[in-house]
Amino acid sequence: MAHEPIIKRAEDKARANMPDYARASASFSWSAARAGLDGLADGCLNIAYEAVDRHVMHGHGGERAIRWLAADGHTSDFSYEDLRRQTNKFANVLRRLGLARGESVFSLLGRTPYLHIAALGSLKAGALFCPVYSVFGPEPLRARMEIGAARVLVTTEALYRKKVAPQRAELRDLQHVLLIDGSSSGIVEGVQDLRALMEAADEEAEIVATKPDDIALLHFTSGTTGKPKGVMHAHEAVVAHHITGFYALDLRAGDVFWCTADPGWVTGMSYGVIAPLTNRACILLDEADFDADRWRRILQNEKVSVWYTAPTAIRMLMRGGEDAFKGCDLSALRFIASVGEPLHAEAVEWSARALGKPIHDNWWQTETGGIMIANFAAMDVRPGSMGKPIPGVEAAIVERADETVRVIEAPMQIGELALRPGWPSMMRGYLHEEARYQKCFAGGWYFSGDLAMRDGDGYYWFVGRADDLIKSAGHLIGPFEVESALMSHPAVAEAAVIGLPDPVIGESIKAYVVLKQGHQQDDAMLRELLGHARKRLGPAIAPKAIVFRQNLPKTRSGKMMRRLLKARELGLPEGDLSTLESDER
Ligand code: ATP
Ligand code: MG
Repeated sequence: MAHEPIIKRAEDKARANMPDYARASASFSWSAARAGLDGLADGCLNIAYEAVDRHVMHGHGGERAIRWLAADGHTSDFSYEDLRRQTNKFANVLRRLGLARGESVFSLLGRTPYLHIAALGSLKAGALFCPVYSVFGPEPLRARMEIGAARVLVTTEALYRKKVAPQRAELRDLQHVLLIDGSSSGIVEGVQDLRALMEAADEEAEIVATKPDDIALLHFTSGTTGKPKGVMHAHEAVVAHHITGFYALDLRAGDVFWCTADPGWVTGMSYGVIAPLTNRACILLDEADFDADRWRRILQNEKVSVWYTAPTAIRMLMRGGEDAFKGCDLSALRFIASVGEPLHAEAVEWSARALGKPIHDNWWQTETGGIMIANFAAMDVRPGSMGKPIPGVEAAIVERADETVRVIEAPMQIGELALRPGWPSMMRGYLHEEARYQKCFAGGWYFSGDLAMRDGDGYYWFVGRADDLIKSAGHLIGPFEVESALMSHPAVAEAAVIGLPDPVIGESIKAYVVLKQGHQQDDAMLRELLGHARKRLGPAIAPKAIVFRQNLPKTRSGKMMRRLLKARELGLPEGDLSTLESDER
């Protein structure tokens, strides 16, 4: 928090979709936001219609909707009209297969436009759509498909053979498997060739008149703090996707928008598919995995104007230093945002120097369905802060004890981040876990399970997950604060901090540190880091022990699994590891 704010230029502020946050917040209403979409007759609402057909109806069918950079090096473009026809065809395929309204379609796909076609086509057909991460092993995949009663699965032949075929008999709800690369589907039993089915399908389709409250999407949480939960979202969520894309990502028609999240996570759906399309941007879809050089080339050559990424990727780019971007023409890049994990102040400042623009952190969860707190384009950025609530969203820092909830008004006090329910993308439940869902609410608030603080100007600061909070010698300590202090040392690439039981002080703080390349893991470095932390944090909050690691346990979506470090340290069961990055096992 000692970091200086990054002051925006007046002309940049004036150009933003939301030039005046206070004014926009004061005049905002969700009904007005909904009126910005078309809707269907009789108060019905369908995500796919708002994302695709609406633009064609208004004469924009020829504009680019998706630009796909395939892993084999070829590129294909889809216009809004192409997408309208393809999604109609997919909806007709589902009808032909006899899928009933509300039944579920799962996708097990990487970054391919078939994901967009399957998702939006399913929604047109009134189905429930659930994307899962393509690198899941057979077991986590089966667990999710069983919970979600998957009727149809869209995948590739290789993924099917490896992960589904061996356990097909156990997946009793699963009736149809559609392969997107179906040329050899004759060889595989029990599957169909999606391309042939699409070829034969009519390109006009009637969109099912879904009600705003009809369930549209199922997303599993990242499993950072325990077993992943199946979160349900309704068609009405599109109102929040649309407006948050407009306000928090500054999306506008014609933008080249690159969301680097995997389609298997909620970010890959809310902002990888829906929000850019409702805002009539062009989605840039890169099939290949992270590679620093290629990413720099993509930003430049594809003229990306809005880029939404995550701290893990940013840290990897930072390892290349500031000079790696020298000579890279980023003149098209207007806005950079990040989500999913705390974005350390160092990263924001690095970006301001290396990319010429700060990264705008924002905060949300699978449960909230869309961005809730953000650094908006017209706002000065306070490095390390998540920003301010979206207009129409009321946030607070609260303390709860049993049934009572106390709102903490004083600035910079740690409490739980709570939101007043009522925005359209709020989850409609955890699938088959009603009691757990009910436990998220009390006194008219939804509890996020995250700890945060709010400063005197209304900016929110992430402290940590409630489960990760450390109580040491009468202090409440968020791991993020200690990790940030360690990360501010030039030799540190990554850090994770946990509390371990201590008979005298309650919990003692232990830190795990990954060093940047070229630094020695020796006693001198250890002493230096301990001293650095003590100087920054004071002796009460500084870690008592630091150990070096080559890497740290993270979920596949890049979130630090502190619970696993703690379980291993204490010899406790490791719990659900289905979302753990494979090389951490
Ligand atoms: P699970 O609920 O299964 O433990 P998860 O909470 O990691 O998994 P997600 O819904 O994918 O699953 O992640 C949301 C969480 O990610 C938030 O509650 C918060 O802890 C963290 N997060 C998201 N954005 C930010 C951010 N900008 N800064 C800090 N933390 C963030
Ligand atoms: Mg969570």
